[in-house]
Amino acid sequence: MSDANDELTARWQGAFMNNYGTPLLPLVRGAGSRVWDADGKEYLDFVGGIAVNALGHAHPAVVDAVSRQIASLGHISNFFMAEPTVALAERLLERFGRDGRVFFCNSGAEANEAAFKIGRLTGRTHVVATEGSFHGRTMGALALTGQQGKREPFLPLPGDVTHVPFGDAQALAAAVTEDTALVVLEPVQGELGVVVPPAGYLKAARAITAATGALLVLDEVQTGVGRTGHWFEYQAHEGVLPDVVTLAKGLGGGLPLGATVAFGRAAELLQPGQHGTTFGGNPVACAAGLAVLDTIENEGLLENVKRQSEKLRDGITGAGHPLIDYVRGAGLLLGIVLTEPRAPQVRQAAQEAGFLVNAPAPDVVRLMPPLNLGDDEVEAFLGALPGILDAANGDGSGE
Ligand code: PMP
Repeated sequence: MSDANDELTARWQGAFMNNYGTPLLPLVRGAGSRVWDADGKEYLDFVGGIAVNALGHAHPAVVDAVSRQIASLGHISNFFMAEPTVALAERLLERFGRDGRVFFCNSGAEANEAAFKIGRLTGRTHVVATEGSFHGRTMGALALTGQQGKREPFLPLPGDVTHVPFGDAQALAAAVTEDTALVVLEPVQGELGVVVPPAGYLKAARAITAATGALLVLDEVQTGVGRTGHWFEYQAHEGVLPDVVTLAKGLGGGLPLGATVAFGRAAELLQPGQHGTTFGGNPVACAAGLAVLDTIENEGLLENVKRQSEKLRDGITGAGHPLIDYVRGAGLLLGIVLTEPRAPQVRQAAQEAGFLVNAPAPDVVRLMPPLNLGDDEVEAFLGALPGILDAANGDGSGE
């Protein structure tokens, strides 16, 4: 690493708690799908702030919307209301194509906390969630999260939550009772390695919850807002109409913005005074959200996601490298499954070659590039991949 990179890392170490471990790289600038480190080295960014940067870095539509909004009306509090906040709720509901109600917050965890509370207002207490899931780090969201290692230091967590194997409709049916308030699922599990459930799983979950009166909550924090080539991934599954959908990440195009969107009776449960957050619906973040939705539409990004996803899948599989087993995922949320647990080495070799990727599991490399990823960027990645994999397979000195 350069002196500039080392210096920022040393300053970081002197000022931060160690909960993230030492960050991989200091970044100083971004434009589109590219970022630069403190040393001026350029990277193609396939991490995208963990699926946040729907439009990449510094997209003019977001820059313009945010600049105009902060210059005219910044934060106001929920005792009042602002036009961009109302407009974003309306525009979101249009994309759901259903009547519903929106609660805005600032993160995925918060969006799930609100869903959890809505579930409690049904008068029931039991919750069913899935093993391997990730719903956030706050205590309620952690209670839903199905990763024992993350939960263990913080037990007891709130609620009466049963975790069942992801993708197993029978296990889900067996766990849901007449006291189950909500079932929480990710349409694709993002955090442990981009796990796609079998066809028909979401539809079965809808039928199981409908039969007992439990709310079906879909956590689309990672899959929503175009990431999978649909506005919301559940829309790719016939016969699935969730009661609640949670969103964050890509929704704000880089600004902190989350949403809990509820339909039918779930939309009526929260009463005045029962929930809120100071920054929720902040007009600046909502102006960014409007720019994201507009740009996805105006630039045909849902189609671009599908096209670039196919090119990436074909190209990665077609590379025929012995370290590649197969590719899974949806749209531009892809997991390259390796034949050996060398994802950290691949991540490191990619970084050295000028590509940022993520290693959520020892044998899975995750790609979450911006939704407006270009042909040349896909080609650059595919061109570099064999060399990256060779380097990762080589001396093992990556990490
Ligand atoms: N749900 C899912 C599916 C996620 O992937 C994440 C973040 N990785 C969260 C919730 C939590 O979001 P946040 O970090 O914004 O609280």
